[in-house]
Amino acid sequence: MGKLDGRVVIVTGAARGQGEQEARLFRAEGAQVVVADVLDDQGRAVAEELGALYVHLDVAEEDGWRAAVAAAKEAYGHVDGLVNNAGILRFNTLVDTPLEEFLQVLRVNQVGCFLGIKTVAPVLEDGGTIVNTASYAALTGMAGVGTYTATKHAILGLTRVAALELADRGIRVNAVCPGAIDTAMSNPAQLDPTADAEQMSRALDELYRKLVPLGRIGRPEEVARLALFLTSADSSYVTGQPFVVDGGWLAGVSVI
Ligand code: NAD
Repeated sequence: MGKLDGRVVIVTGAARGQGEQEARLFRAEGAQVVVADVLDDQGRAVAEELGALYVHLDVAEEDGWRAAVAAAKEAYGHVDGLVNNAGILRFNTLVDTPLEEFLQVLRVNQVGCFLGIKTVAPVLEDGGTIVNTASYAALTGMAGVGTYTATKHAILGLTRVAALELADRGIRVNAVCPGAIDTAMSNPAQLDPTADAEQMSRALDELYRKLVPLGRIGRPEEVARLALFLTSADSSYVTGQPFVVDGGWLAGVSVI
């Protein structure tokens, strides 16, 4: 028995990173999975390997969401879950951030999450689930990534309001708040075939050994296990909450 037997779950940004690991784990737990991304070749390859459905989806495009939901229903008949995982990061101080860049990050992270809720919630089966991907940076400030931080704070607002508005249908809405996770977002060496991504992972572990109580960067599989908990019946009385998966980074600072 899998924890998601019989359920159909859409995962955005599932061509790589945390979304890919969520797709893998959900499939292993018995779900039918819709892999949605803008990276068509990678997304198709993941879907093919898993026996999942790939759909091209730019999460900021409302028509794309309608088409993705239609494709999911045509393939599997119903939709029970959504993981709003797609996201982008840009480094800049607030005063140096061009408006274009602010709007680009807002469009993917915040508008994408909003459109996911708006489009998928009406067709979700009663008792369905939505997991939004916020961040450590949704719960505290982080200099140098102000636009990203603002959008991730906003995702918690969307999560709480959606939980309230959908509770009468038994639909639960929660957020994962990862700390630093070893994906292309934190470790761009993963995208460079000439770079040694494993060596970079070890360098990141060394960096986070000083910052994070558990002494290392997180792995995308560790976020996927939290998303599984929030998508399965194991979390049946849990809604409207942020869940931090950060190796203790947010617990505070140590003076010893
Ligand atoms: P990643 O860059 O490997 O994956 C992001 C995925 O989103 C990619 O597959 C990308 O193609 C997809 N994507 C980007 N724009 C899209 C769009 N407009 N429409 C559809 N898909 C789009 O990074 P990741 O770490 O796997 O990121 C997943 C989520 O986790 C993001 O929301 C990110 O903000 C969040 N997060 C990451 C970290 C970290 O340290 N890696 C920490 C906290 C939160």
